[in-house]
Amino acid sequence: MGKVEPYYATEAEVERAWHILRSTGALKEGHFRLPRTKLHYERFFQVPLALQNSRDARILCVSLGRVLRRSGILYRLKKDKRFTVIAPMDAGIPVAFWMGEHLDADRILWANRIENGWGFRPFIEIDEDDQVILVDDAVLTGETLASVADYIRSKGSSVVAVATIVDRREQRDDFDGSPSYCLIHEKGGKHRPKTCPMCEEGVELVELTPQA
Ligand SMILES: [Zn+2]
Repeated sequence: MGKVEPYYATEAEVERAWHILRSTGALKEGHFRLPRTKLHYERFFQVPLALQNSRDARILCVSLGRVLRRSGILYRLKKDKRFTVIAPMDAGIPVAFWMGEHLDADRILWANRIENGWGFRPFIEIDEDDQVILVDDAVLTGETLASVADYIRSKGSSVVAVATIVDRREQRDDFDGSPSYCLIHEKGGKHRPKTCPMCEEGVELVELTPQA
């Protein structure tokens, strides 16, 4: 697991998160193809399965909230502006509410995909007074979070940080200057179809619907 940096989850938090994901069935092990990357994966995370139980959801989201607290990023929030937690799409909504409650956010919102981009429900608006922490259950390529972060910035709001329960990117890169945080960084267990050992063994390949 390596050295624990201050902006990483602690070993205990990471272990507890893995335990919850396993015990709730949110961690699927097998042979999966995700259309977004076209790679084959040994593990697939359906984090909403872990978030459906309020005790597990609280543990995961409070742990992620603590990662943010320890990172010091919350000191960038200015007192004279709003602190807004935003989830892109439905899977991030419980994360937004649990973390927003834990971190005492002023607003908790979720965006929706609309034609040609993103939007909020009618009459819900964000502006330059919103300092946003963008949260989601998991990030695979980062494309969705990057595009919703751009949308939020286009409204004049700032994106202070991006936080997810699971991060599957090779590098935990920031999002155009907005640092990213996670509980579990799981970059391994993926293969190009041509050199996939599970294909070679003839393990049945499960096709999953697109996600980002
Ligand atoms: Zn394969």
